[in-house]
Amino acid sequence: MLVPADLPTPLTVVDDPELAAAGVELRLKRDDLAHPTVPGNKWRKLAPNLERAVADGCRALLTYGGAYSTHVRAVAAAARALGLESVGVIRGAELAGMPRNWSLARAERDGMALEFVERSVYREIASGRQERRAGHFVLPEGGSNAAAVRGAAVVAEELAAQLPDLGARDVVCCAVGTGGTVAGIAAGLPSGAQALGVAVLRGEGYLEREVATLQLAAYGRESGNWRLAHDWHGGGYGRVPEELERFAARFESRHGVPVERRYVAKALSAVYGLARAGELTDRRVTLVVTGVPDPDPEAAPAAPPFAGGRPERGRSGVSRS
Ligand SMILES: *Cc1c(COP(=O)(O)O)cnc(C)c1O
Repeated sequence: MLVPADLPTPLTVVDDPELAAAGVELRLKRDDLAHPTVPGNKWRKLAPNLERAVADGCRALLTYGGAYSTHVRAVAAAARALGLESVGVIRGAELAGMPRNWSLARAERDGMALEFVERSVYREIASGRQERRAGHFVLPEGGSNAAAVRGAAVVAEELAAQLPDLGARDVVCCAVGTGGTVAGIAAGLPSGAQALGVAVLRGEGYLEREVATLQLAAYGRESGNWRLAHDWHGGGYGRVPEELERFAARFESRHGVPVERRYVAKALSAVYGLARAGELTDRRVTLVVTGVPDPDPEAAPAAPPFAGGRPERGRSGVSRS
């Protein structure tokens, strides 16, 4: 079985007079189009881990997350595609006896066994470091480990091939949750180019250390060419203030690109905000579209998993021999 992705993901130009007036060029790296059921950066981060899991002969993937975790759904879908079992350890023991929300229902439909744990315990175990189960490949909450960082670095390598003069003029921007994606993107950039991570959680200053630690784990060194912006979280994780909602909806209707609200909208609003403030003048900015909007839970599923795909372009994936 395959978990193929459509790579390289497209690079498109955003034509916007407001940005032009601020002296900013904006491109979108459309990682949201990489895969139909393992979207965006979740595919990038999982791919090298899946390869390891299969090579190690594991029979199951095990991971951690909240009740609406995109990472948990991605792991369930990937495991199913690879013919592996999956286990999701979910924050909140009280959820065990309640009707499943759409996200957990989707993971269960993909064959994931859900285990619900007390919030007080969850924090301690979500790194996965204490987990020992025979035949289980363990991924931490959010999926950020050394292999994931190397998977995310491929985004920057693709971009360097698509923009051959990628360098000192360039800023590559993405949203930051656990930091694995920005750690990889920064590490994969050619010298001179900068990565800008936009924190979607209310910052306590630990995120910089997380990114540095992940780069050390992946490469044995820090790349030094990145920074995080902490003023664009909109009140915290999952919060989408009305103004941000309006901004994202307007961008969608003007440019025809679906804008995922918890992460991508915040990174995009940071680009516009920094452009307006004159902090990106004469820069060429590439925003990595790291995911897709949540499905409308009321809508019927559009297609069975893995039925889609665009065969006219190259495919790259993890195969199970
Ligand atoms: C999970 C996620 C992120 C965060 O990635 P990290 O590697 O955890 O920083 C960013 N964007 C989207 C759309 C995501 O789903």
